[in-house]
Amino acid sequence: MPPHAICSSSTCDFSREPQDMRTGTRTDTPERCPICQSPMISVCPLCRFLLLHIDRSKSPKCGLCGANLKQAFAERSNHPYPVQTKHSNRLQ
Ligand SMILES: [Zn+2]
Ligand SMILES: [Zn+2]
Repeated sequence: MPPHAICSSSTCDFSREPQDMRTGTRTDTPERCPICQSPMISVCPLCRFLLLHIDRSKSPKCGLCGANLKQAFAERSNHPYPVQTKHSNRLQ
């Protein structure tokens, strides 16, 4: 099942819904938002979990680690190297 993908811009609400599997059609996740050209987020920036369940709120959160996806993405963009986090749990 294709995951959700959301626009990384905090001012843009665009999100791509998973494709209806009954139609048999499959669309690849766009790399950039078709509206504002910001990068799309398809996995959690912190734990790399697929965005299978997101709410439609202004600040969608990761279903696994609870990170604010847009905020986490922005922080990652500002810090290309791994930053120390309060909980440094590693999944792998
Ligand atoms: Zn956008
Ligand atoms: Zn996460």
